[in-house]
Amino acid sequence: MLIASTAGSWQQQLSDVITDPDELLRTLNLDASQLSVSAQVLKQFPLRVPRSFAARMQAGNPSDPLLLQVLPSDKEGDDTPGFDFDPLSESDFNPQPGILHKYHGRVLALVAPHCAVHCRYCFRRHFPYEENTPGRQAWEQSLEWLAGQPEIHEVIYSGGDPLAASDKYLAWLTNRISEIPHIGRLRIHTRTPVMIPARVNDELLAWLSDCRLQKVMVIHVNHANEIDAEVTEALQNLRRAGVTLLNQSVLLKGVNDSAAALIDLSERLMDAQVMPYYLHVLDRVQGVAHFDVSETYALQLMAELKEKLPGYLVPRLVREVPGASSKTGLQ
Ligand code: SF4
Repeated sequence: MLIASTAGSWQQQLSDVITDPDELLRTLNLDASQLSVSAQVLKQFPLRVPRSFAARMQAGNPSDPLLLQVLPSDKEGDDTPGFDFDPLSESDFNPQPGILHKYHGRVLALVAPHCAVHCRYCFRRHFPYEENTPGRQAWEQSLEWLAGQPEIHEVIYSGGDPLAASDKYLAWLTNRISEIPHIGRLRIHTRTPVMIPARVNDELLAWLSDCRLQKVMVIHVNHANEIDAEVTEALQNLRRAGVTLLNQSVLLKGVNDSAAALIDLSERLMDAQVMPYYLHVLDRVQGVAHFDVSETYALQLMAELKEKLPGYLVPRLVREVPGASSKTGLQ
């Protein structure tokens, strides 16, 4: 049995997320007294779950794959060797406020310091957002820097989650970026249309449609159950606005670490006309080791996917290596 969904504008849904683990478990008819999570873990990375996402979880199932992505655990306090606070060394690639320049020809613009949801495995859970959330004035300085980098052709909106920002702000920034002649493509990395499908509203579709840049959106779905009719409709509307849709997932123990779950995910994405793009092995950030899947097992899963799916539905298994010129393929 699934619990009932909620409605309201995306802004209302964004501010009315579930922040209390007990409430989340009670909503799902689960025994909250069995949850063991310290105040320290919650202080460091609070719980945030949009009600529309909780509505896709199965009531009464403590191993629900959507629940496990967001439920805090005391294991997050473990100090695991090989897991770091800045596993991708992103602070080394931060030339301007709000800009990460890791790859040739493209830059990441950190346009929002927060997300609709807090994914417990997030590799930016320790990122210093307070130093990287430029206001309009600081953006002018970063835009000037961008205008002087003719080898950069693509701007990637990242965060946090860029679609947690207002459309007024995003339309302004996109407009300013599109004035730079050598920028031809805008890519948006976001989980919000999946968490809160109402985020894909008329204002968002209007500035996307009006923008001269080629538009690619990389959504983030880890399990087929995340895609319901509302999410499918939101994705359809984005496609109609001229947005190419790709998906990236993270391979997570207990969530999607079986060939059956990954095949189901690829099929469901295709039904929603989204191409599977990347399957990431976990970035080794402190506090997430309990989600780790060994590379050997990941490769076994990929072999099974290749056997059972058409090639275009098999995502690329990748790892992000600090300083590498692109994602590192593992197949
Ligand atoms: S939506 Fe992305 S950036 Fe935000 S918490 Fe989840 S993984 Fe991290």
